Amino acid sequence: MAKCSFCSGKAIYSKDRTSFCKKHFNRFFIKKVEKVLHMSKLFNKKVLIAVSGGKDSSAVAFALKKLNENLASSRKNRLELFHINLGISEFSEDCLASVKELSKLLNLKLHVVSLVDITQKSLEEIAKNRLQPICGICGTIKRYLFNKFAFENGFDFIATGHNLDDEALLIFNALISRNITNLVENRVFKPSIPEKKLVGRVKPLYFLQEEETLLYANINEIPYSKKDCKYSKKKRVIKNREILSELEKKVPIKKALVVLPIKLSSYMKDQKKEEDYKKCKLCSYPTIKRDICRFCELIRVEK
Ligand code: SF4
Ligand code: ZN
Ligand code: ZN
Repeated sequence: MAKCSFCSGKAIYSKDRTSFCKKHFNRFFIKKVEKVLHMSKLFNKKVLIAVSGGKDSSAVAFALKKLNENLASSRKNRLELFHINLGISEFSEDCLASVKELSKLLNLKLHVVSLVDITQKSLEEIAKNRLQPICGICGTIKRYLFNKFAFENGFDFIATGHNLDDEALLIFNALISRNITNLVENRVFKPSIPEKKLVGRVKPLYFLQEEETLLYANINEIPYSKKDCKYSKKKRVIKNREILSELEKKVPIKKALVVLPIKLSSYMKDQKKEEDYKKCKLCSYPTIKRDICRFCELIRVEK
């Protein structure tokens, strides 16, 4: 059995010829999250953590709460949880039960909104007869509702559970489709633009791999739903995910990919400039180069 490189305790994880026991793995994990906090100056802020009920966003909430405990009171963030009940039968019920448990464990206020209550339509109804995959529509809706709720309730940042694997895949897809905007924009965090009703975004797990988040969630007994959404297999990105995993076996491509936008954005200005954001004519929330935002287009315009 491998031993921890720092204390000779029993190792539970090895990476780059370094082994970690539970205590030192937790320290490694928190340091990576802390790095994002420093990059985004996420101190003394009101932060809304978007919790889906899955392991990643639950791990974000747990790690941010842990970090808060060691911060001076003037630097502590005010953390609250936000969950959207998507109404996808048992999956959503299980997710809701997990976020309630998480909120209780961490003693953090939980806000829950229901997609059906807001739109009078289920996700399936909204996605019906549309060419865009249901996950893309789901993503648009979630981003819109996170931002609207955070803006209306005075939050400075929305923290999401995107991990290094998610980000590496997005950047890989951007490379393949030559989407330069996605390659050069800062993916770790985005500051708020209050005059555009746009709340800042931060991804505390940006430098952590999926397997590391899973391990962190399990060893700390963080409540999360083990159920898969019935649509997760239909994600178009599956093929590219497999190609990326094969490449990763040969070279550390994921790590190289996630630092790419950070390096590039220091040479080039963000492509999505403030003036690119317009006000949606129906809801007044931001939209990029459109008169009506994607959410309103999905929910209100087309019957
Ligand atoms: Fe939404 Fe797709 Fe995730 Fe299901 S798998 S919750 S439809 S993004
Ligand atoms: Zn150790
Ligand atoms: Zn709108």
